Amino acid sequence: MSQQIITRFPPSPTGYLHLGGARTAVFNWLYARHTRGRFVLRIEDTDMQRSTKESVDAIFEALDWLGIDWDEGPYFQSQRFDIYKEYINRLIQSGHAYYCTCTPEAVDRMREAAKARGDKPRYDGTCREKNQQWQEGAVVRFKSPLSGNTVVEDIIRGDIAFSNTELDDFIIARSDGSPMYNLAVVVDDITMNINTIIRGDDHISNTPKQILLYQALGAAVPDFGHVPMVLGPDKSRLSKRHGAMSVTAYRDMGYHPDAMVNFLVRLGWSHGDQEFFTRDELIEKFNLEHIGRSAGVFNPEKLLALNAEHIRNAPAQALAGHLMPFLKEKGISAAADDYLYGVIETLKPRSKTFVEMADGAEFYFVDKPAYDEKAAAKFLKSDLLPPMKQLTEAVAALGDFSEKNLEEIFKQVMETAGLGFGKIAQPVRVALTGKTVSPGIFEMMLALGRDRVIARLNDAVSFMARQSG
Ligand code: GLU
Repeated sequence: MSQQIITRFPPSPTGYLHLGGARTAVFNWLYARHTRGRFVLRIEDTDMQRSTKESVDAIFEALDWLGIDWDEGPYFQSQRFDIYKEYINRLIQSGHAYYCTCTPEAVDRMREAAKARGDKPRYDGTCREKNQQWQEGAVVRFKSPLSGNTVVEDIIRGDIAFSNTELDDFIIARSDGSPMYNLAVVVDDITMNINTIIRGDDHISNTPKQILLYQALGAAVPDFGHVPMVLGPDKSRLSKRHGAMSVTAYRDMGYHPDAMVNFLVRLGWSHGDQEFFTRDELIEKFNLEHIGRSAGVFNPEKLLALNAEHIRNAPAQALAGHLMPFLKEKGISAAADDYLYGVIETLKPRSKTFVEMADGAEFYFVDKPAYDEKAAAKFLKSDLLPPMKQLTEAVAALGDFSEKNLEEIFKQVMETAGLGFGKIAQPVRVALTGKTVSPGIFEMMLALGRDRVIARLNDAVSFMARQSG
């Protein structure tokens, strides 16, 4: 049996989870789910100055909303310093790393000298062969090979060769003993058994250093895939200028998490020309072969269109939980019950976001709809009183409140009054919703239910009678 795939998402908690980070999370999560592998969450909070508890919480909140669950973790790098220390010592003992006592000023001078010669600024290896013991102020440097190449066999980009002479003896531990970024990442990925790493190509320059660390530690090098950055519509790197960057901002704008996941995946992965994917379909179809080499372009209209499609395709029961916070914001306290599900069914085809759906739902939950002035003036007027009365009485007398019977009533009223469907439907619509635009008249009546419909029709009849008085 081939090895189980183990992926990870290791955000640095220095801000909210942005779209690019979320896409990385989605790729790794989907690949783990697709292969029935494991997905590990790790918080890379070694940068004590920039890491905050708020950011950690914001990341959890965003992953939770996206429906990304993890099988292991969250691990926190800040709690793993002992493990890093052990590995740093191991590298020193095996001769792959050494204590360096060059002062920062001396290193600056070396870098300047290299630059002056036209070389890349680098540490010149002064302490490399000194075999020094620890002393106050010493850092630990990795002994990079002095010749040859380190090749990143990238799943997405193919082989990328880095000349080892370009990598100087990089620091793996600061003078206070704390690990440097690349060391911590490699130790974590080794000890967490990560074998597949999908990340943004902004990390590609770290990869040869990490590969050298794996080799020095005698560990298997994982499969790496570096995905191109996400671009804005103007093809520059995606930034705040292009719209909200935080994932949860889209939740607050009324987006469905499945639409967001669908959208993020499509920023870099394709399956023929299919655009719409349910979550299950993504788990079934996602693979690494079809991650593209060219950068995904963020297109907000596409996100909105996908959102409308996800809302349209989901069962009402699955949408209720997403809609309710938006209803609450409007002061509507709806329960997740059959009434709400019926309401949602009528609104699904006409709501691009949950904000729009909540707007559309308002009339269902008020005691009496407030009549739009123009609509009332145009449709709730005295000459339409006789057909409205006839309709109201017929509805009140109905045994079975069904679409078929309601249609029949409309037919009779149209016949008696000698009016077309629209002439009857519009005053009914205003009576029931206060507005001239709403879901289909019969589906809406069924969703409102018999009692509300009769009460609202009666109110409209009284209102119309007052107009003629
Ligand atoms: N902590 C890094 C970041 O947030 C990810 C490092 C990695 O994927 O190796 O960009």
